[in-house]
Order: sequence, then structure tokens, then C-alpha cells
Amino acid sequence: MKLTIRQVITACQWFRNGDHFDDSCHPITNVGLSEGKIVRRYRDPEVEACKACTDCGHIMHDHGWLDNDDIVVCPSDHVIEFEPGRYFAMSYKDFAAAKVFK
Ligand SMILES: [Zn+2]
Repeated sequence: MKLTIRQVITACQWFRNGDHFDDSCHPITNVGLSEGKIVRRYRDPEVEACKACTDCGHIMHDHGWLDNDDIVVCPSDHVIEFEPGRYFAMSYKDFAAAKVFK
């Protein structure tokens, strides 16, 4: 027996700090935007900011971070809320392959 469960999800394609609709960023003089509440800036003192990501090729400085499960968000990833307050990141390619729009 095949069981299909359909679920409404909330997803946001993320490219840079402030893109998530619940980030609540505000402008800061000479800095740009405050850090997002959902997708934070990826900053790891043990990883060089100019290091290229092995998944997407962008430098790590351009990535985001989800605190709930220590998840790195690549530019163009979709950030999906799978339960209230819990998020994960899915690459654009996987998001499209999952046919989540149907
Ligand atoms: Zn990446």
C-alpha cells in the first residue's frame, strides 16, 4: 500500500542576509542590515571566509546559518519550516526535484 501525505510547508529561497521573510532585519549605519533572526550569517572562526563551499562554490562568507540544527545555508537554498520554529535548508536542485509545488 502506498500512502501519500500532503503537507503545506513554508519555504523561502535565500540568497543573502535578510532574505527570509521572518528575518526582521533592520538597517544599521555603515554596516548594512542587522543579522537575520531565522537565517544568521555563517561565521566560523575555524573556516576561512574566502574558502569555497564544496556544495555550491560560493565563498563561505556568503552563506547563512540555521541555529536549530547547525545547518549551513548556501546562496539559492530554500529554507523550509517543517514545524513551528524548526527549519532546514534544501538546495534549489533538490527543491525542484521534490516537486513540492504540486
Ligand atoms: Zn554553499
